[in-house]
Amino acid sequence: MDARDAALTRAHEHALAWLDSLDTRPVPPRAGHDEVAALLGKELPTGPSDPVDVVDLLAQASERGLTAMPAGRFFGFVIGGTHPAALAADWLVSAWDQNAGLRMVTPAHSAVEDVTSAWLLDLLELPPAAAVGYVTGATMANFTCLAAARDEVLRRVGWNPHDGLHGAPRVRVLVGEERHDSVDLVLRYLGLGTPEAVAVDDQGRIRPDALAAALAGGNGPTIVALQAGNVHSGAFDPFTDAIRVAHDHDAWVHVDGAFGLFAAATDRLRHLTAGMAAADSWATDAHKTLNVPYDCGIAIVRDPMAMKAAMGMHGHYLIQDAEKGDPFEHTPELSRRARALPVWAVLRSLGRSGVAEMVERLARHARTFGDRLAALETVDVLNDVDYTQVCVSFGSDERTREVVRLVLEDGTAWMSGSQWQGRAVLRISVSNWSTTDEDVERSVAVLARLAGAVPVEA
Ligand SMILES: *Cc1c(COP(=O)(O)O)cnc(C)c1O
Repeated sequence: MDARDAALTRAHEHALAWLDSLDTRPVPPRAGHDEVAALLGKELPTGPSDPVDVVDLLAQASERGLTAMPAGRFFGFVIGGTHPAALAADWLVSAWDQNAGLRMVTPAHSAVEDVTSAWLLDLLELPPAAAVGYVTGATMANFTCLAAARDEVLRRVGWNPHDGLHGAPRVRVLVGEERHDSVDLVLRYLGLGTPEAVAVDDQGRIRPDALAAALAGGNGPTIVALQAGNVHSGAFDPFTDAIRVAHDHDAWVHVDGAFGLFAAATDRLRHLTAGMAAADSWATDAHKTLNVPYDCGIAIVRDPMAMKAAMGMHGHYLIQDAEKGDPFEHTPELSRRARALPVWAVLRSLGRSGVAEMVERLARHARTFGDRLAALETVDVLNDVDYTQVCVSFGSDERTREVVRLVLEDGTAWMSGSQWQGRAVLRISVSNWSTTDEDVERSVAVLARLAGAVPVEA
């Protein structure tokens, strides 16, 4: 075996050992940063070493410092696992090493990306002619869509976005009070400043009456950013009413659906997304609900010309496909990896029914968590568990924080501590394709035991 084959074989062995360990290892890491750093060695080697030794060192030094994020009992943040078809395809992405920016140099990639985009628009019931870009995550998908939005609403009032924002009409951006923080971040990247927050209901859904009042209280170029899937409650904004009132004011409507957009792919949950397809752009993640490996976000813009105007580049050395356009015209990057391949693979492997079944299963597990935990004394389920998120309080904030601490110490499962609507909460997000009924029952049993062990204050 030559050095290349040996290194790849070794990486494959380490990968399988890791995947095989997921069901039995504690979910949290057992070693901290300093231990891993010491094992890696801090000095840059003065000369070359065998790639096999490098792979071995990396795997052995990292092993105890890894979190079992792709395991069925990881319920932290909103983090998907890795479907086997997607992982295998992702290995090919690196081996093939295609620069996915230009259509002309890699017909295979362009074909896969075009097919994947058409499948996604079909599954999510979005306009079939929309433009699709493959970015690093929902943050950059929000960025890409909101860049297209900013430029388009400025053009509509006669301002050329290429003249910059100095002296431009002020772009109003309205968001729900419980939008994801990454929306604020990308608005800063885009020079649009802090958005105007609109009141939400008890599940964190934007209130259409409050949105109407806010829209009536100003004018000029306007963007409304809605949400499909609140990270705490899982709730979806009331799209039909919110989009109607926003469009009445000629606003561009964007939907951050990082993990919620895929509710549209199932007959049972599609009602949550009712009216969503009337928006102008949508952001989602493939590395959450769709369970492809990091990193993959998807930006979708109804008007392909608006996306190209914001993201396209026209360097004379770039050979462009004038008819179909090039992938780089849909993303902030020029060079990038072939991110659509793992997305294609998971869709091809699951098929329409498999995607629906997976998303419904995540929601069913969340419901089981909600029902089981609500039945326990001293536990309150704070949200309506309609989708994949469960927010739990164990009484006082102190008691909740103590249970969160004990959950992580126990190691059977991983769940996030958070703050929602003024209360400390334990947040459970079911996002992993491999989570089983047994994973849920084991995790509930741990929570029941820990909740019983922490005294309730007088
Ligand atoms: C996760 C998430 C984001 C950010 O996505 P990244 O993939 O981490 O960039 C944005 N919005 C919502 C609703 C999310 O859940």
